[in-house]
Amino acid sequence: MNTFNVYPIYDINPVKALNSTLWDENGTKYTDLYGGHAVISIGHSHPEYVKAISDQVANLGFYSNSVRIPLQQQLAEKLGELSGLPDYQLFLANSGAEANENALKLASFHNGRKKIIAFKKGFHGRSSAAVAVTDNPNIKAAINDDSHVIFLDYNDAEAVREAVDDETCAVIVEGIQGVGGIHVGSDEFMKAIRESCDQHGAVFIHDSVQCGYGRSGKFFTWEFSGVKPDIISMAKGMGNGFPVGGILISPKFEAKYGLLGTTFGGNHLACAAALSVLQVIEEEGLLDNARVVGEYAFDQLKKISGIKELRGRGLMIGIELDQPVKEIREKILFDDKIFTGVAGAHTIRLLPSLGVCKEEIDAFISALKKYLI
Ligand code: PLP
Repeated sequence: MNTFNVYPIYDINPVKALNSTLWDENGTKYTDLYGGHAVISIGHSHPEYVKAISDQVANLGFYSNSVRIPLQQQLAEKLGELSGLPDYQLFLANSGAEANENALKLASFHNGRKKIIAFKKGFHGRSSAAVAVTDNPNIKAAINDDSHVIFLDYNDAEAVREAVDDETCAVIVEGIQGVGGIHVGSDEFMKAIRESCDQHGAVFIHDSVQCGYGRSGKFFTWEFSGVKPDIISMAKGMGNGFPVGGILISPKFEAKYGLLGTTFGGNHLACAAALSVLQVIEEEGLLDNARVVGEYAFDQLKKISGIKELRGRGLMIGIELDQPVKEIREKILFDDKIFTGVAGAHTIRLLPSLGVCKEEIDAFISALKKYLI
C-alpha cells in the first residue's frame, strides 16, 4: 500500500529536532522558522514537554470521557489564568477544523439560527459537515442542514454592521488571517463584530487556531482590540505537535450532557502535552519573547529593499514580494537550510517557535537579502 498522495513534499526527512533546529537523516542541520504550520510553539522536543508526555504514557495513555480526568480541569484552570478568561469554559477536541465545527454548532444550538458571516480569504479547516450525514437529530444543529454563509471583505467594519441581522447565527473571523496572507484584523473591525453580534443576538467566534497561543505577543489577538469573543477556537501551538484543539466558551453558554462530544478530545496524553506547553510558555516568558523578537524581525525586515509589504504581529510574519516567492523560498531551504512557509504565491510566511532567538532571525534575513538583490 502507498499513502494517498495529496501533499506536495520536499525530499527532506527530518529525524531529530531541538528548539528551532532540525536534523535530517544525513545529519544536515536546518533552522525551522515555520514550525510545521505554526504548530511548534515552545520549540521542538522541549525536555519538560517530552518528560510530561513520557510520564503520562508510562502511567495511562488513554481512557474515555466517561471517567474523571483531573488533567482536563488543570488545563482549563491554567488556560483561564494565562488567557485572562477564568470564567470561560473549555471543550477539548483534536484539531482546528474540529474546534471550529464545535464552535459553529454551539452557536447554532444557542440561537437556533443558520446564517453565518465569514470573510473572504479566511480559512477555518477542511472537515465537511460530518454531522449532516449522521442520523441523530439531537446532535444536528440548524447549520448542518442548509447553512447559509455570507462572505464579506476582511476588515470591512461597515459591511459587518450592514450584514449582521436578527437571523445571523454567528460571525466567524481570524484575528490575523494566516493562510489568506497574514492580514491583521483592525480594532475597529473587531469592535464592529462585537457590537453587531450584541445588537442582534449573534455569536462572535474568534478563530485563534493560527494567531493564538502567544504567537502575536499576547495570548490571543482579540486582546489588542479590547473586545471579548463569545467562543474562541484553538489548536496548532496548543499541543506543540501533539494533536489537540478546543474552544473556550463564554459563561453565557450552558453545558448539557450530550451537546458536544468526541472520543479522543481531552484525552490524558493531549492534556499532559497541552498543560506542559502552558507551563513552559509561562516559565520561559515566551509571550514576551514573541513580542521582542517579533519587533526585532519587523525592524530588520523594514531595512531591506525589495519587500512590497510586511504584515503581521509578533512571530506571525508575512513578507510580500513583488515576485513569486517559490524559487527564493527553495533557495533559502536548500542552500541556506532554513524552513519557511508561504501564503499564496507572493508572500513568505514565518511562524517560528515562540522561543526563537534574534540570531536565527538574522540568519534568515541574511539569506533573504542575497536573493532580493
Ligand atoms: N483555522 C485556522 C485559522 C487555520 O489556520 C487552520 C489551519 O491552518 C485551521 C483552522 C484548521 O486547523 P486543522 O488543520 O488543525 O484542522
